[in-house]
Amino acid sequence: MAEIDTGAATLNRDGVLRQKQPDYYLLRIKAIAGDLTATQLACIALVAERYGRGAVHLSTRQGVEIHHVHKDNIESARRVLQSAGVQMGASGSRVRVIVACPGNATCKWGAIETKKIAKELDSRFFNLEVPYKFKMAVTGCSNNCTKANENDIGIRGATEPEWISSSCTDCGSCVRFCPAKAIERQEEGNGVEGYRYNVDRESCINCSICVKQCPAKSWIARRQGYTLFIGGTMGKIPRFATILKRIEENEENLYLLIEKAFTCYRTHGRKKERFGHMIDRIGVEKVREEILGES
Ligand code: SF4
Ligand code: SF4
Ligand code: SF4
Repeated sequence: MAEIDTGAATLNRDGVLRQKQPDYYLLRIKAIAGDLTATQLACIALVAERYGRGAVHLSTRQGVEIHHVHKDNIESARRVLQSAGVQMGASGSRVRVIVACPGNATCKWGAIETKKIAKELDSRFFNLEVPYKFKMAVTGCSNNCTKANENDIGIRGATEPEWISSSCTDCGSCVRFCPAKAIERQEEGNGVEGYRYNVDRESCINCSICVKQCPAKSWIARRQGYTLFIGGTMGKIPRFATILKRIEENEENLYLLIEKAFTCYRTHGRKKERFGHMIDRIGVEKVREEILGES
């Protein structure tokens, strides 16, 4: 059997982490958007039986970990996993596995193709070196099931609503069902000239509930796309993400913005400093300027 490099950095890069028990390691397996095939699951079960202790651990980032693999068995275990196309995850100061909810593949609220985006992000960024761990999440709508705003990069499906007066019956329901209290009824000309329903764009969370639930179809989707968050993190010093762009309609532009955010972090981030903490240190205006060209 080929000798494997058991240097911690090499193993971490390849998703193999040292356990506290001497000579034992865990194998971190990548499930992009949380998806694994039945064949891959069977292979993982086989490896867990043969080289672990017959069990797996499900990680908080939709991954599967096989614990208690002796160092002498790491290479064999990896080979079996590879044979079923099972890929290893990442650890250390690198881009981690991209998580995603099912999005519009199966969820009635899904506004975007979360799995497609997660796969694209995986192919462009996974396992690249950065100043510290770097996490990305894609979530299909404002229900935010994958917690986009707790990740270094978060993408959320978004709808920008617009009120059209023609069919509105003035029932007032939208004011009540808007979860962000962003809709307001406004009388025009002291009520003589009628009324209109306005959205406060800053408060609106682009959830599309008004569009879906207005009985008269008076709310329409003016624009659809992606809300892009940057700099979210949990851990020791939590920070909710900053909205970089409320709606980006073009998928390729979305990747370009993420690429620029990534470059910004690599340029300014200090070792062991999360992206969000770097943003707080150098100022969100500077970051916006670098990524969006805004000041
Ligand atoms: S975030 Fe939205 S689209 Fe994704 S699973 Fe939750 S409800 Fe469905
Ligand atoms: S729910 Fe629709 S019909 Fe009712 S007030 Fe709002 S826009 Fe008008
Ligand atoms: S999209 Fe959601 S948050 Fe925005 S106005 Fe409509 S219901 Fe309110």
